[in-house]
Amino acid sequence: INYQMNIFAGNRNDLLEKIKAAMSVKRYEHVLRVETMALQLAEKWGVPAEIASIAALVHDYAKERSDGDFLTVIREKQLSPTLIPWGNNIWHGIVGAEMIKDDLKIMHEDILDAVRNHTTGAVYMSKLSQIIYMADYIEVGREFPGVAEVRALAFEDLAASVGWQTRHTLSYLIDKQVPVYPGTLETYNTWSI
Ligand code: GDP
Ligand code: FE
Ligand code: FE
Ligand code: FE
Repeated sequence: INYQMNIFAGNRNDLLEKIKAAMSVKRYEHVLRVETMALQLAEKWGVPAEIASIAALVHDYAKERSDGDFLTVIREKQLSPTLIPWGNNIWHGIVGAEMIKDDLKIMHEDILDAVRNHTTGAVYMSKLSQIIYMADYIEVGREFPGVAEVRALAFEDLAASVGWQTRHTLSYLIDKQVPVYPGTLETYNTWSI
C-alpha cells in the first residue's frame, strides 16, 4: 500500500521504522497483524486503506512509554486530571495520541480519535474507530472463546461486533475485579444493548 495523502510525512516503510523502534518485536508483530485485519475491514466497510493502515500501525505506539512520560504529558497538555489514577492500559491510547502528534507529526483527527478509542471504545465512534477497536481484538494472533464468531460478526455487522467486544471485555474486567474505566461503561451502554 502506497501512502499518497500526506497524513504522515514519509512512506509506509518510514512509518514502520518509527513504530519498530518504539516497541518490542512481539508488540510490533501484533501491530502488523492489526494492520492486516484493519485493511480487510476497511475494504469491507468503505474506509480508505491508507487511513486504516496508519491508524493500525500507530495504535499501540505509546504502549511501552513510562508512567512518568504519560503523567508529564497529562500535566503539560492539561488533559483531564481524572486520567491520573488509571495507568498504562488506559493512558496508552488517550495520552498516546498526544505522543503520536508530537513524535510522528500525525495530525489527522479521525486517526487520533481511533487511537484514543481503541482500548475502551467511546459513545461516538467513526467507522475507522470501530475498525481499529475491532481489528485490535480479532487480529489473527488473538485466541479466546468466541473469537471465530466475533471475527465473522465484524464483517457482517460492525456495530454489533463493537457491542460484542464491549460486553465481553466488561465481563472480563468484572471477573478479574479490576476497575472499569467510565468510558468503557458508556461504550457498553451505547453499543451493547
Ligand atoms: P493491547 O494494547 O493490544 O494489549 O489492547 P488494548 O489497548 O485494547 O487493551 C489493553 C488492556 O486494557 C487490556 O488488558 C484490556 O483488558 C484493558 N482494559 C480495557 N478496558 C479497560 C477498563 O475499562 N479498565 C481497565 N482497568 N482495563 C481495561
Ligand atoms: Fe492498545
Ligand atoms: Fe483493544
Ligand atoms: Fe493493540
